[in-house]
Amino acid sequence: MKIVMIGSGYVGLVSGVCFADFGHQVICVDKDASKIEALNSGRLPIYEPGLDELVAKNVREQRLSFTTDLAGPVGEADAVFIAVGTPSRRGDGHADLSYVYGAAREIAAAVKGFTVVVDKSTVPVGTGDEVERLMREANPEADVAVVSNPEFLREGAAIGDFKRPDRIVIGTVDERAKAVMTDVYRPLFLNTSPLIFTDRRTAELIKYSANAFLAMKITFINEIADLCEKVGADVQQVARGIGADNRIGSKFLHAGPGYGGSCFPKDTLALVKTAQDNDSPVRLIETTVAINDQRKRAMARKVVRAVGGDLYGKKVAVLGLTFKPNTDDMREAPSISIIQALQDAGAKVSAYDPVGMEQAKPLLPAGISYADSVYEAAADAHCIVIVTEWDQFRALDLPRLKESVADPILVDLRNIYQPEEVTRHGFRYASIGRASA
Ligand code: NAD
Repeated sequence: MKIVMIGSGYVGLVSGVCFADFGHQVICVDKDASKIEALNSGRLPIYEPGLDELVAKNVREQRLSFTTDLAGPVGEADAVFIAVGTPSRRGDGHADLSYVYGAAREIAAAVKGFTVVVDKSTVPVGTGDEVERLMREANPEADVAVVSNPEFLREGAAIGDFKRPDRIVIGTVDERAKAVMTDVYRPLFLNTSPLIFTDRRTAELIKYSANAFLAMKITFINEIADLCEKVGADVQQVARGIGADNRIGSKFLHAGPGYGGSCFPKDTLALVKTAQDNDSPVRLIETTVAINDQRKRAMARKVVRAVGGDLYGKKVAVLGLTFKPNTDDMREAPSISIIQALQDAGAKVSAYDPVGMEQAKPLLPAGISYADSVYEAAADAHCIVIVTEWDQFRALDLPRLKESVADPILVDLRNIYQPEEVTRHGFRYASIGRASA
């Protein structure tokens, strides 16, 4: 199979490399010449565990290459995947489809022979119809089938998720396209990965429904965590107690500072807009969005309480900036709002992240001092706040930290410690949904 991937970001690059690793011939295209130049010189434009080895291997074995030229490769392809960004549109929160439509027009002008055009970007219901219309308008001769194949990988675990997915959703009723898509994913059959064939609109809605449901589940446990704090219960035990029920499931029941990242915030918002436009509001999701928005600044108030009510002039060490561990992605990271709120309360912020510091700097407010290690960030701090649960924060040298901080206060927004582990070393400890100690 000859596959072209348009967009070589978190999804396009991982998908392209994994398809190559299955044995397909893959060309990854991106408009951003600096990304392609980096990839062609053996450097990755993103951080994703295991991706560098997999890219190197497939380039070496000549199944994978990178280019800014879309037309040449598309003319030869059996399947062209669109994996460009669909950020929130400024102003109204709808998905910005300009990159998808731009790619579709370019593909239309370049296709030769029957070609399956596969939308892997997360797009609102009906986008596939519009992509097809645009392509026919741009090139009435084009013999294309437009398929929806949403992606469910998680950054930080993307390769494993792509190679061993829970399901592969393929939205098309075109028999020729079904045959091509079956061939594209055939190497996964050994792992009995279920292909779910639907019509295109249903596939598009599956992706938004999945993300909205997960965002709602996180928000649910976050609210229960707040209640736990008020009534003296332990949210981790509540999560365990309800998660053991198969109907509920234990995943996405970790209370924290509110969801962030490149998908949940924009996708929940886009679903709300689609639903409103269709006179069928999704009130649970509207509420989820509102609760989550308020939650991040509420985390800064938790820090203020932990230090005794006044942060003015105090130094706060923020550990972890990316929206979750094992990625350098800073899009909609909770750290952005939390740090802003800490500064608004008068705190001086020092920050450390193992991987995402360079990506973080342009997105965070001015006036932060960036440290090279946890211990540098925490020196003379009046409070240490764990915002992202990187592995290296799970076994901090608490005696060493106790020596160097101004006040031994740890606020753990990810519940990675047990209270007694921390208090034993002379720290005061606050976490989410558990009594402060
Ligand atoms: P990204 O911003 O990392 O990558 C998109 C890339 O597309 C960029 O490198 C950009 O330069 C390129 N691009 C834009 N227009 C182009 C064009 N016409 N030709 C060539 N390249 C072009 O985005 P991402 O995180 O990979 O997300 C892509 C899509 O996948 C989004 O719709 C997102 O919602 C969805 N998705 C993302 C994830 C995730 O974890 N990041 C998971 C599932 C689905």
